[in-house]
Amino acid sequence: MLLFSIFGEPVTHSISPRLHNNAMHDLKINGCYVRQAIHEPSLLMPTFHAMHLNGANVTVPHKEVAFAQCDEIIGIAQKIGAVNTLVKEKNKVIGYNTDAEGFYKAIASFGKIQSALILGAGGTAKAIAMILQHYGITTHILNRSSSRLAFFNEKGFTCKSWEDFEVQPYELIINTTSAGLKDTEFPCPEPLLEALLSQASYAFDVIYNQQTPFLAKASHLGLTCKDGKEMLLHQAVLAFDHFFHQQYQQNIIEISMRKAFEY
Ligand code: NDP
Repeated sequence: MLLFSIFGEPVTHSISPRLHNNAMHDLKINGCYVRQAIHEPSLLMPTFHAMHLNGANVTVPHKEVAFAQCDEIIGIAQKIGAVNTLVKEKNKVIGYNTDAEGFYKAIASFGKIQSALILGAGGTAKAIAMILQHYGITTHILNRSSSRLAFFNEKGFTCKSWEDFEVQPYELIINTTSAGLKDTEFPCPEPLLEALLSQASYAFDVIYNQQTPFLAKASHLGLTCKDGKEMLLHQAVLAFDHFFHQQYQQNIIEISMRKAFEY
């Protein structure tokens, strides 16, 4: 039997096992996907080997640690510096980042976007910024503080903190902060957010399964909105595709995983 796991801290809330187990069931694959909390980051890769895993996903807060512990990194993960997918190949563990492409697939229904503003400068913002840059979309970063902006400055993004930001039009506003996850906060001061949203057409929040104050305001102002559910779905489809070395059609995996959201 093939064995896969999600690694993180915490992981009890993760729906990754449901998505992957549903797809393996529908595709008649003899495999199982489990959850494993990792309390000590240095034990991530030793745990991967001790469990004899064929592959794993990595979630908060271990994506950067996982990047450092892989034998090889493939694709855009090299630029992001974080991986969410580990694949065992012979004696090596290969790392990928499918959050980035998963996000891009999630915004496909918005059509061709020319400009975007990312609110937040954490790990998720890095993945989204790098994929938007990859596809030639002009992307700026706005964060509460300037301390996390060095990565983005080095990669050539225009970056501002709340203090020195001047409003200009962007087609797409993306919330990658955790504001609104467990509180009623906006990801930036409300007047600033209103000025940004009133000039934008699309809003995306990486938080899923709830309407954040950010998305509620964007929706109220008439923007086309999306939460993080589709990003979660597509990163999982792409991870599954890596686990099984492109053996199955992505649209078949997607149909199966979508069903897992329904129960
Ligand atoms: P990080 O901790 O790496 O970054 C958090 C960022 O949010 C920082 O820039 C921080 O600013 C900012 N921030 C936090 N709280 C506030 C606030 N109240 N107001 C304004 N800014 C704030 O987080 P991650 O990037 O790892 O994760 C962010 C979110 O993305 C989480 O909610 C996570 O669940 C979600 N996520 C969703 C995925 C999906 O598939 N849909 C995939 C991955 C993550 P500062 O630098 O000033 O502290």
